Amino acid sequence: MTDHAARPVPGFPEHGRRGNIVGLKMWCRWCCEWHTHSHEEWYAAGHVTHRVAHCRTPDNPNLVPNPPYPESEGYWIEVQAAPFSEVEKLVKEPTTAQRRAMARRGYEQTDAVRRLRAQRLVQQDARWTVVHDE
Ligand SMILES: [Zn+2]
Repeated sequence: MTDHAARPVPGFPEHGRRGNIVGLKMWCRWCCEWHTHSHEEWYAAGHVTHRVAHCRTPDNPNLVPNPPYPESEGYWIEVQAAPFSEVEKLVKEPTTAQRRAMARRGYEQTDAVRRLRAQRLVQQDARWTVVHDE
């Protein structure tokens, strides 16, 4: 099983229009979408922080389907130097219609869901200190 502390998932700072950091984005291969978490101004690249999972998928081994999640059901995120704007397009999110269909079917393992989940964030350069490879 996953050892959260040993294997954090990468989190990418999301910048607002004025260049300020407004969030920490984490690609969730279970939900097949970017989850948005809070980001603190003092975080530096390499900082590891715990977040309660935002997932809704019943087969994600890291969590339960509905909030409130116990603290232990979250994940560890390691802040990356690479900004979200550069990595956003490395994976393809489902459309709103696809997302609704997935939720309606309880994230049943259809071919489409399997294809979305097979996507991996591939490390682009040294600004990535951790990759999501589980
Ligand atoms: Zn998720």
